[in-house]
Amino acid sequence: MHASGTAEHYDVLVVGGGAAGSAAAWQLAKRGHRVCLLERFAPGHRAGSSHGRSRLLRLTYTDPLYARMAAEALRMWHRLESESGGDLISTVGAVDGGRAERLEQAAAALADEGADFEVLTEHQARSRWPQLALPGDVLFHPDAARVDPDATLPALQHLAARSGCRILHGTPVTALETDADGVRARTPAGTFTAPVAVVTVGPWTSRLLDGLVTLPELTVTQEQVFHLPQRDPDAVWPAFSFQHEDGGIVYGMPTADEGVKVAEHLGGRVVDPDTRDGIVDAAARGRVLAFAAERLPGLEPVVSTETTCLYTNTADEDFLLDRVGPLVVGTACSGHGFKFTPLLGRMLADLAEGDTEPHPRFRLPSPAPADRA
Ligand SMILES: Cc1cc2nc3c(=O)[nH]c(=O)nc-3n(C[C@H](O)[C@H](O)[C@H](O)COP(=O)(O)OP(=O)(O)OC[C@H]3O[C@@H](n4cnc5c(N)ncnc54)[C@H](O)[C@@H]3O)c2cc1C
Repeated sequence: MHASGTAEHYDVLVVGGGAAGSAAAWQLAKRGHRVCLLERFAPGHRAGSSHGRSRLLRLTYTDPLYARMAAEALRMWHRLESESGGDLISTVGAVDGGRAERLEQAAAALADEGADFEVLTEHQARSRWPQLALPGDVLFHPDAARVDPDATLPALQHLAARSGCRILHGTPVTALETDADGVRARTPAGTFTAPVAVVTVGPWTSRLLDGLVTLPELTVTQEQVFHLPQRDPDAVWPAFSFQHEDGGIVYGMPTADEGVKVAEHLGGRVVDPDTRDGIVDAAARGRVLAFAAERLPGLEPVVSTETTCLYTNTADEDFLLDRVGPLVVGTACSGHGFKFTPLLGRMLADLAEGDTEPHPRFRLPSPAPADRA
């Protein structure tokens, strides 16, 4: 028991039960640690970044580091799915189109990973997928998948609980304090202590960690996704991603029961995660419908359902996975983190165990060396 008489003591606290925190709790509990996961909201909440039925797992990164990590995550997803017995991942394949330089770099990264891919001319692509009308050559990789957040979070938390993790929803951490013994997390339900805490609070990272660690600027944006009905319900859709010459990206994927999801990457406005309105931006809807009318002839250019979700953005879109003293900070952000969920759990658990150095790309900015664990 910690110095504070009423505190509950664990080997590791995990603060924030989105994708990253749930995966860290799963890994740590599986490794035999006594873990407590503290989540502010109820199961299935829509306030953060990890809700909905679909996220795209593409291997087509132009950056070899993320391409390598995505390939490893894909292997881990299949193992996680069989361990959980759930339906978490569906292989759909993905077509990448648009800026030629991006496609060349992505093809090189896929080749380095030994992943299957094909480059198709515009004509070949249109014959294979008449529902898509992307200009120019495209890159197809058949192993791309759709993963399901609404199935994944409960699966991870179930596996964590089965290995002894205590999971407390509706339990906001109102303050974190660190001292020589580790971390003290204050909540309305009491105080929790541990030698180490994994903090995975997504859009609330700056708010909770302010004054405890040095963070880069994190910008939270409210993004929107749209679902459009297929003209031919029997057409088999791949996922797709298209980069305009100005760098803007539109992506989409078939869903289990909501038609095809279409969204802009980073099309949303900056918000405060506690006061954001959840109202879909009409201009973004207009841009997505215009893209569908021009480039997605297999869709009715009407929105059947739409929703919002939060991105937590770093300037270079790199993740933050680092440790400062007893605090492990995990923000797999900038709209591309979900695909890495099982791998993030492993990386965060490694950092919590203290035997692994953070990857240089994922370090927090210039902490004093003496502050590191
Ligand atoms: C529209 C959209 C589309 C996306 N598409 C893709 C995609 O196709 N592919 C992909 O790989 N990624 C995608 N992403 C990104 C991916 O969903 C996120 O990177 C990932 O969900 C982030 O998870 P997280 O656990 O870091 O954050 P979150 O899911 O936000 O989890 C943080 C958790 O911390 C909790 N919390 C906050 N403060 C406290 C506190 N004080 N005490 C206790 N708990 C607290 C919150 O309630 C929340 O549950 C998309 C994101 C969005 C929004």
